[in-house]
Amino acid sequence: MADFVQIKNLEKTFGDHRVLKGIDIEIQKGEIVTIIGSSGSGKSTLLRCINLLETPTSGAILFKGENILDIQYNLPKYRAQVGMVFQQFNLFENHNVLSNCTVGQVKVLNRSKEEAEKIALENLDKVGMKEFAFAKPAQLSGGQKQRVAIARAISMDPEVMLFDEPTSALDPEMVGEVLNIMSDLTKTGLTMIIVTHEMKFAQEVSDRVIFMDQGVVAEEGAPEELFSNPKEERTKEFLQRII
Ligand code: ADP
Ligand code: MG
Repeated sequence: MADFVQIKNLEKTFGDHRVLKGIDIEIQKGEIVTIIGSSGSGKSTLLRCINLLETPTSGAILFKGENILDIQYNLPKYRAQVGMVFQQFNLFENHNVLSNCTVGQVKVLNRSKEEAEKIALENLDKVGMKEFAFAKPAQLSGGQKQRVAIARAISMDPEVMLFDEPTSALDPEMVGEVLNIMSDLTKTGLTMIIVTHEMKFAQEVSDRVIFMDQGVVAEEGAPEELFSNPKEERTKEFLQRII
């Protein structure tokens, strides 16, 4: 079977700053891949290229064998299949929690309002936020906002979920509740690509860990290998600094 997501020789340049310098990554359906690396190494840019918030400068991204960068490719359909959770939540502040979780379903997936609300409430229940359905984002803590952002994303029935440091903006006491929800999600068969600085979490949930350094994949491997027996000098240095 073809790889689910294949990233081939991906490059991204901003002006004369080469941020991604030929990234090759293959991800299988259902795989949990975490990406670690220093600030500025290109992790966010890579995720943003995968869901086409950024247009890659060159290279290819294949989803189920088809290059999403082909002009004929059905981009709206692709975008609906790739969910993303950001560090800064990105909830619609003027919508309540329930509405945050239904607008995309109605607009993009053409679901009826009733169906969208039913699905949203099920997912809000899974993340422990059902009782806040009619609250506005401003009334919620960071951890609660992030749980709503996760419920919103999974309400679109994505095939792949991207997480860009979902706990980095949270007060320490709220990190656990979000990691627990993500940990639950890893058991559902969903394909997940997670950028995180939470090394213990990465070690527990990942099938594979990718260490990025200065725009390249410097090392990748099973978590038990990469964390306890890193091969590259720069991986060792990074892990010593962060753990
Ligand atoms: P990370 O997520 O690993 O911290 P980023 O992908 O955010 O790294 O950034 C990698 C590099 O790309 C940084 O030097 C950053 O300044 C630069 N960069 C990211 N986005 C842009 C942009 N839109 N315009 C110019 N430079 C950018
Ligand atoms: Mg980043």
